[in-house]
Amino acid sequence: MVSALEALTRLKEGNRRFVAGTAMRVAAAEHSRRIELLDDQEPFAIILGCSDSRVPAEIVFDQGLGDLFVIRVAGNIVAPSQIGSIEFAADRYGVRLVVVLGHSGCGAVIASLEELERPSETPNKRHARNCEIH
Ligand SMILES: [Zn+2]
Repeated sequence: MVSALEALTRLKEGNRRFVAGTAMRVAAAEHSRRIELLDDQEPFAIILGCSDSRVPAEIVFDQGLGDLFVIRVAGNIVAPSQIGSIEFAADRYGVRLVVVLGHSGCGAVIASLEELERPSETPNKRHARNCEIH
């Protein structure tokens, strides 16, 4: 089992490689690694991150297949289903580190703030308009 401190160190080192442009993630998806993961997984960290296409955890932390257990939702918020996924991974795989990964320029957060400042329509009216067939 990987300790929380060791897991955090791995993530920081991976992020440094990503920032420096020296990421190794292609090697982490080699055929031999895929074979190793056929029957089981041993992720060393759980990441609750945003669905934003610019912040995929495996890429920004330069990790490979089987390294991270990732839950992604716009705005990296938690609902009971996300909590259940986190608890599942911690219990099933013995993962000791949970990271809630926010990021700058989050579209989901910006949209939420805009809606709070200037409520436009009720969600039901907006949904009906978006689903209208012309
Ligand atoms: Zn976001």
